[in-house]
Parts: sequence; C-alpha cells; structure tokens
Amino acid sequence: MSSASRTCALHANHSAVAICCTCQIDICAACHHTNPLGYAICPGCKETLRAFEQTLFPWEQASFSRLPQTFFRTSANVLFKPFSFFTDLAFWTSFDKQKEGGFGRAIAFGLICTVFGMVITLFYQYLFVDDFLEIVRTTIQENDLPAEVNPDTLLTLLFLMIPLLGILAFLAHWFVLEMGLRLLGAQTKWSISGRVAAYSSAAYLAKILPPIGGYPIGYLVAIGFLIQLETTAIRVVYRLPAGKTFLVILLPFLITILVHQ
Ligand SMILES: [Zn+2]
Ligand SMILES: [Zn+2]
Repeated sequence: MSSASRTCALHANHSAVAICCTCQIDICAACHHTNPLGYAICPGCKETLRAFEQTLFPWEQASFSRLPQTFFRTSANVLFKPFSFFTDLAFWTSFDKQKEGGFGRAIAFGLICTVFGMVITLFYQYLFVDDFLEIVRTTIQENDLPAEVNPDTLLTLLFLMIPLLGILAFLAHWFVLEMGLRLLGAQTKWSISGRVAAYSSAAYLAKILPPIGGYPIGYLVAIGFLIQLETTAIRVVYRLPAGKTFLVILLPFLITILVHQ
C-alpha cells in the first residue's frame, strides 16, 4: 500500500493518498471522498453512489405526483421482499444526517397503513357483523355515554375517531419498539425505530382481505406479516440475535393485538 511514488489517476501531478475501495484507482486528497461506511472512494464512484441512492427509497424521495404509485411499490417491496427492503433501510439510515428530509414521509407511510387497517376493519364489521351498530350502542350505554344518537351519526363518529386512534396506535408502536430496543442494548435512534415501525405497518394493508365465514382472515394475515416484517427488520437493521429479537417484538405485538382487535 506504499503510495509514496504513486500519483492520482485523475491528476498526474498530485501524489496519491488512497485507493478507491470500489474501482481501485489511486486518488489524491482533492479526489478523496468517503462512502457511507467511511471507506475512500473516487469522484466517479461517488457520483455512481449518489445515482444509486436516488433509486433507493423512492417513497422518501419521489415528487408529490408520483407518491400514489410509489406507495404501492413500497408496500409490495416491504411485504414480499422484507429482507432486501430492510437491508436497504439499514444502508439508507447509515448516513442518517442526509436522510432527515425523508423521515416525515416514512412516518406518514406508517400512519396511512395503520389508519387504513383500522378503517377497513371497522368497515368489514359494519358490513358483516349482524347488529354491529346495536353492539356499539350497547357499549356506549354501558359506559354512560349519551345513547340517543342515531345510527348514521354513530357510524360517522366512529369513522372520524378511527384516524385519531390510528395515530395513537402508531405512536405507541414506535415508542414501545424504541424502548424495547434500548432495554436490550441495541444501538437505536428514534429516526431508525420510527422507520422500522412505519414500514412494518405495511402489514396492516393485509386487512383488506375480507372475513370468510366469520373468520377474520385479513386480521390474521396482517398479524403474520407484522411478526415477519418486524423480526426481519430488527435482525437486519439492529443485528440482534433471535432471542432478543423475539423479546423486542413481543410487547409491541401484544399491544397491537389489543388495539387492533
Ligand atoms: Zn472509484
Ligand atoms: Zn486527484
């Protein structure tokens, strides 16, 4: 590695200080850049890396008009290719400073999925559970709330309350995940656990599967996806061993079952 006699491949009159870890050319101090892992790269490879970054996580980078299609593609990637999705997430969040801009988008993704899951569950209960409104009305009476509301108002109120509950459920999911990770000694940040919670919430999209013969198929599939996504995310992003991963998802998982039932 002695570079005393070597010169920069791009500047013949500059002596080389490093070798690009990607294309192996000698580079001078002016050409010296670093990749997210801190290794030396040349200007050409930095450009390639930047172009590659722009293809990653389109949900956090796409223009507003492309968001609907990006939402579906991101959902499909999380649900059906969780390992490569969360590997990209680990890479993406390893240079966290530059990624603050996309963070709000990530949280929005989690909120959309969580609220959608709750709305669709309520909708199916309304469609398929006999006397659903009667059951709700009885619950309200038992809790000493005014029960003289007519069914339509009641239903509207329920659908209006759901987004609020969804937001609270997502925040609880995020908070408990971060706390569980800290308790078990994982190197975590709110911005990383927030993304893990948000993208794992794609599991709730499975609630669109309607109940069959009284069995809540969508709910069960969603829970299956949630376990798979969070387990994969925690193992890939935080590199926790299987036992600890199980403990981290146990608590948020129990809360999720209670909230979404
Ligand atoms: Zn290079
Ligand atoms: Zn140079």
